[in-house]
Amino acid sequence: MEKKNLETTYSPKDFEKRIYENWLNKGYFTPEVNKDKKPYTIVMPPPNITGKLHMGHALDLTLQDILIRFRRMQGYEALWLPGTDHASIATEVRVENELLKQGLVKKEMGREAFLEKVYEWSEEYRGKIRDQITKLGSSCDFTREAFTMDENLSRAVREVFVKLYNDGLIYRGNRITNWCPKCETALSDAEIEYVEHNGNFWHFRYPYADGSGYMVIATTRPETMLGDTAVAVHPEDERFKDLVGKTLTLPLMNREIPIVADDYVDKDFGTGCVKITPAHDPNDFHVGERHHLESIRVLDDKGIINEHGGKYQGMDRYEARKAIIKDMEELGLLEKIEPHMHNVNTHDRCGTVIEPIISKQWYVEMKPLAGPAIEAVKSGETDFVPERFEKTYFHWLENIQDWCISRQLWWGHRIPVWYCDDCGEVHVDHDAPKLCGKCGSRSLTEEEDVLDTWFSSALWPFSTLGWPNETEDLKYFYPTSTLVTGYDIIPFWVMRMMFSGIYNMGEVPFDKVFIHGIVRDSQGRKMSKSLGNGVDPLETIDEYGADALRFMLISGNAPGSDIRFYPERVEAARNFANKLWNASRFVLMNINHELIEKYKDSTSYSMADQWILSKINNLIEEVTENLEKFELGIALSKVYEFIWNELCDWYIELIKPVFYNGTDEEKGVSYRIIRDVLIKSLKLLHPTMPFITEEIYSFLNDEETIMMASWPEADNSLIDAEIEERMGGIIEAIKSIRNLRQEMNVPNKKKSALFILPNEGKKNIFENSKDYLIKLAYAEDVVLLDKDSTDENHVSLVTSTARIYIPLLDLVDREKELDRLGKEKKKLESEIERVNRKLGNEKFLANAKEEVVAEERAKGEKYQSMLDAVTERIHALN
Ligand SMILES: [Zn+2]
Ligand SMILES: [Zn+2]
Repeated sequence: MEKKNLETTYSPKDFEKRIYENWLNKGYFTPEVNKDKKPYTIVMPPPNITGKLHMGHALDLTLQDILIRFRRMQGYEALWLPGTDHASIATEVRVENELLKQGLVKKEMGREAFLEKVYEWSEEYRGKIRDQITKLGSSCDFTREAFTMDENLSRAVREVFVKLYNDGLIYRGNRITNWCPKCETALSDAEIEYVEHNGNFWHFRYPYADGSGYMVIATTRPETMLGDTAVAVHPEDERFKDLVGKTLTLPLMNREIPIVADDYVDKDFGTGCVKITPAHDPNDFHVGERHHLESIRVLDDKGIINEHGGKYQGMDRYEARKAIIKDMEELGLLEKIEPHMHNVNTHDRCGTVIEPIISKQWYVEMKPLAGPAIEAVKSGETDFVPERFEKTYFHWLENIQDWCISRQLWWGHRIPVWYCDDCGEVHVDHDAPKLCGKCGSRSLTEEEDVLDTWFSSALWPFSTLGWPNETEDLKYFYPTSTLVTGYDIIPFWVMRMMFSGIYNMGEVPFDKVFIHGIVRDSQGRKMSKSLGNGVDPLETIDEYGADALRFMLISGNAPGSDIRFYPERVEAARNFANKLWNASRFVLMNINHELIEKYKDSTSYSMADQWILSKINNLIEEVTENLEKFELGIALSKVYEFIWNELCDWYIELIKPVFYNGTDEEKGVSYRIIRDVLIKSLKLLHPTMPFITEEIYSFLNDEETIMMASWPEADNSLIDAEIEERMGGIIEAIKSIRNLRQEMNVPNKKKSALFILPNEGKKNIFENSKDYLIKLAYAEDVVLLDKDSTDENHVSLVTSTARIYIPLLDLVDREKELDRLGKEKKKLESEIERVNRKLGNEKFLANAKEEVVAEERAKGEKYQSMLDAVTERIHALN
């Protein structure tokens, strides 16, 4: 080792980049297919190429990196496969708008030229995203990086389309689809957002054709009446029994339409009569099919009234709505307007109100695919963490509609279908057929539409591993181990990967689905552009380092729950890093490797040594278990507490006297223990804070890197509850003595004797602790008592294991001491009252676990004995 110690100050900028590049160049992120080791695989949810990574990605990536680093150190061949998603509609809209700023109109450019621009754009953004992923410290394997538009992934898409089609699970049909008039494309149910809207019910009169009166119907979308082809009533509705079969004259259009009876109508809702527009409402569409009604589509793809809309042709849907209401009112056919709060469906990307429109689209039949996907989670082949999200998953799959997969866009996987211009035959194939298989014509036209972007991301866990080729990677790494993703994406993505994996691979794509929440601002609001409350992860990294950001995102994190982003917590994380840095510097400055080597077999441990060894082994056991159960936040808080309190605040203080005045053997042993405990703590912290742990580790031994080092294993023979209790008692005594001296303004150089009366059975705690009390509690001498001190000059302290007397009264004020004891008394009295209140609460006693009640009782007893001691002391002083 050239340099012997860390830089004087912790400055992550100086080493994070260097360390990352070294890891990358050494190939540490690239696992091999190794039959002797078990694989652990995560496929990264591919970020959309539409823009910069936000705090949600930072959380998502950090969680994955922790799991991957942990498993890699445990000895798995750990593959974290990164990539990006072409994000069909989102990207197309973005690029279209960018080009428009340059005066280029998509439709005028033509398909080829436009796609060329999108490719350029996607290359640039993929590079940017890769860069951002690396800044966070992500140990993903870029040699296997994938993009949903890669040649092989596109091949996988065609393969699956053809397979589904040949299995009869893909069809083309006239269906009502969710249509976005702005983006001019069909959408799936998962792309819809519900927005509350202050609307109206317009009650219209529809006159009977024979002039004998009218029926009243209510609608929230008056413009659709132009396409009405019936009015429906419930078959058992007495009010309309004789009217079924009669005809009405549709106002404004003067078309005769029948009155039909259908179960779908709710007779207790509204007027009991429902207008039926099969071309513009999914329910009406089914009523239309049952009664063989005509479908009249009155809106074009832009949401403008078409040639079937009479004199309203050319009007935008909302313009037409106004005109129709006005005309109906003038005709005396507007019965009333009733305000009505309802949900409208909007497009999640652009916010435009969705128009259900009948159109010809491609669909995947979902029922046969959903069944096995539900079964796989019910039977436990795949588990959700936390389990409660299985409900969301089941809800979506159990109520699933056929999946509309065609999109009227250019950017995406083109649907592999060719139509024969001469005989109309439909050809579905991997590649363009040369001629029509039916009539031999060479004139074939390719389908214009592309696939829903989720069609390709549904194949992600196996297409990225080489499928449809039988690659070594695919055989070894599939099924993957854990999917890490947000709860908002369960219906879009998780369930689609599940049924795609089962259908194409015959096996579920992952063992565990680890769900996390979203990152909110410190007030609990969603981070959004419009609120301007987003925090850029890159700026945070720039200011505090990646380790601090990662720490902030994980501390307090619980599976499935949202987290809040507090800038001051990133600062606290940086302070923690600082503390670890300084403590490590101190250790490096003092330890001597020759002495470690010379006494490497010595086991003459001091009490502090035994205590820290017991603590670290406990910690290893607990943290390993927490990480295996995805309790990343709990694991981190335990490591943090240990490093901050036990290691830096206590152990290093406790062994300083050995560092300065110990024998060679004592030194050799302490050096070894502090080095080993520090190394183990760094390993436990490494998955969350990879950079600082690597930097410190490189000075502590000759191993190449911490990230490939083995995960520590607990040595149970070193776990010793009695030692932990004894040391705990001493630490408590030291803390109390220090507090008391501080309260009484006694300078540190003023030493004093300590008289200790241990509680029953606690004598052993204080028997061998003289040194610690002398060094850390400013004691001149320590005397163990066997009964209470009655010396008037003694100030007293009560801990949970002893009464401690300090002859300080000649140095301080008696009144002050009485005052302090009075406060102490009040505090204890209120604690006792709180415990008694709790124990007197029948609800608490009935609901709490036995251990909890017992614990509460023990607390009460402890406080009572402390109070007795304080009271006695007050008497003595008076
Ligand atoms: Zn839209
Ligand atoms: Zn043909």
